[in-house]
Amino acid sequence: MNKVQILVIEDDEPVRNLITTTLKARDYHYIAADSGSSGIMMAASKNPDIILLDLGLPDMDGVEVIERIRSWTNTPIIVISARSEDSDKIAALDAGADDYLTKPFSVEELLARLRATQRRLAFMQPENERPAVFCNGNLKIDYSAGCVFMGEEELHLTPIEYKLLCVLSQNMGKVLTHRYLLENVWGSSWENDVASLRVFMATLRKKLERGTGGPRYIQTHIGIGYRMLKVE
Ligand code: CA
Repeated sequence: MNKVQILVIEDDEPVRNLITTTLKARDYHYIAADSGSSGIMMAASKNPDIILLDLGLPDMDGVEVIERIRSWTNTPIIVISARSEDSDKIAALDAGADDYLTKPFSVEELLARLRATQRRLAFMQPENERPAVFCNGNLKIDYSAGCVFMGEEELHLTPIEYKLLCVLSQNMGKVLTHRYLLENVWGSSWENDVASLRVFMATLRKKLERGTGGPRYIQTHIGIGYRMLKVE
């Protein structure tokens, strides 16, 4: 029995039924809301583990729903929306969404995103309980010593590359927007400089993925940002 409870916020009944039928078939518990305000209320009263959210809701915009929910909880929010513009995805991710799926979506993809989010949930811990060493595949980061290893080999990263890697690893599975990375790596002096972020990301990847024949640890979302993938 899958003990994870999912809150579905979607006003379109056929889509809502498709999602809830899919969840039921996989033994997820679910609750459903057909408006932004009732979704926010359920998020507060039922404390779900994961929220699936449509952006085009009758009473308020989904981005506002994300902002309201984020004011009190970090519960993962996966956006499922017909809006496919990068700017819409960025607005949702910047507001605090964890991932997005564009309609029409496949049921298999929805389930895969849910599994990825569940793995992330298992990894998420309060900052003070975070292990001092992060492991993902052959990648090992010793946060206390500030060292990075790929297998047995120590990687020599610049301070910026190291900080980028730390932010990505501490948000494994989550899509981080350019803006989020710039703010969290460069801090207050960030000047919307996506071009230099790309350069640092390229050199970091080269060091991480040397000889592995393709992007494994870091996934690019063109025009949006990056995410660290869990490597089995
Ligand atoms: Ca809708």
